[in-house]
Formats: sequence, structure tokens, C-alpha cells
Amino acid sequence: MSILSHRLLNISAKFVHILPAQPCLLCGAPSQSGLCCAACDAELPRLTGKHCPICALPAPTGDVCGECLKQPPAFDHTVAAFSYNFPLNKLIQSLKFRERLILVNYLADAVLKRVTATPDCLVALPLHPVRLRERGFNQSMLLARRISRRLGIPLLVHACERVRNTPPQSSLPWKERDKNMRQAFTCKPDTDVRGKHVAIVDDVMTTGASIGELAHALKLAGAGEVSAWVVARTLPHDH
Ligand SMILES: [Zn+2]
Ligand SMILES: [Zn+2]
Repeated sequence: MSILSHRLLNISAKFVHILPAQPCLLCGAPSQSGLCCAACDAELPRLTGKHCPICALPAPTGDVCGECLKQPPAFDHTVAAFSYNFPLNKLIQSLKFRERLILVNYLADAVLKRVTATPDCLVALPLHPVRLRERGFNQSMLLARRISRRLGIPLLVHACERVRNTPPQSSLPWKERDKNMRQAFTCKPDTDVRGKHVAIVDDVMTTGASIGELAHALKLAGAGEVSAWVVARTLPHDH
């Protein structure tokens, strides 16, 4: 993201409360925040109820689910604020594809409301440099910057990279997504995560394959514990 867009993001966050009411991004009704009106905010699909502590999918007893017992992912916990359903999916798409960067703080703060343990540091799920050039910004990095500032913990901006430009996960059937992501990420040799608790920040967790691969790379680099912090979790029956 350019320095200018960064400044604009900071300026808009500062002045949002003194601006006149702006249309809600979802329904067009007046909204003081310029994001969601109170009615739409109340409609957002917050993840409630008992869920598996590792993958955040609903689990009736709140214990580790069968899938995670059978094949534990490389990450140890997941924190997710919402399910990836209407109308939250529209907000994430506006952020990613229409550069509604004003959503960054709102969505990052929703994740923070769910966080119970503070890790030692954060990493954002990296985009491949080619994809980053096309989009101009990495929404996960923007979310992670906000979270890092609010928690006062370091964000390791250059620690991990995406070394394979894989086809978008959304273009593949679920079964092929694990294979598609294999060895997609590396941690730079000077990354100091040895024995540390690292949280990976991303916008949406669908199968968990991407975050799982990055968590695997972090563990190979010595990370002691890896958490996944996502704005939204796709629930299998929604697919
Ligand atoms: Zn609304
Ligand atoms: Zn699970």
C-alpha cells in the first residue's frame, strides 16, 4: 500500500466521529461511523456457541473436533469473530476488491474482542509478490498492523513469504486446497520465533489450508505455539 493510502486510512480513522452521518456500506441508511448502521451491525453473523478450540468450527461440547483429533493442523488455536456469511462477506469483499480501507480498523477490532491470550508477535498471511502488485495491498497485513498497534506487540512484517504463486484457493475444490498450498510459504532464516507464541492474522479461514501451511513453516522455524486470528470462518455447511 502506498504511503498516501496509509495516511488517508489514519486520517479517516481520526475524523470519523466528527464527520456528518454517511451511508451504511450495506444498506445505505445514515451511519455515524460511515461503515455499518446499528441495524446492519446487529445482523452481522458473529460466531457464537461452542466451537472446537483448534479450528473454530462448531462443536457441540466445545471440545477438540473429530477432524482436528484425526489430523491436527499445524496451528494450535483459532480466534474468529464472524462466520463468513451475508452480510459480513460483503464487507470483506468491499475491503479486498473495492479498497474500502476504512473497514480495516472495524474488522480488526472485532477480532480483538475475541482474543483472550496475547501472543509474543504477529505475522500476516503473505500474498505472493505478483498478487500483491495486482491488488496493491495485502488486507491481512493491514488488519495485522492495526492489531499490533492496539496490543503493543511486534508485527514481523518481513519474516515470512509466499514463495509459490498458487491459484486462488477459492478457485479449487476443497479436497485440492491442501495440496495447492503445500510449501507455499517459507520463513526467512533470520526470523526469530524460537519458542515464541505467534499469531497469524488473515481475513477469512475457509479450509485452514493456507494458515496451516504458514503455521507449519513457523513451527519449522522454531515457533512454540501458533494461533490463527481471522475475521471470518467459513462453516462447512455453508459451502
Ligand atoms: Zn445498514
Ligand atoms: Zn477442530
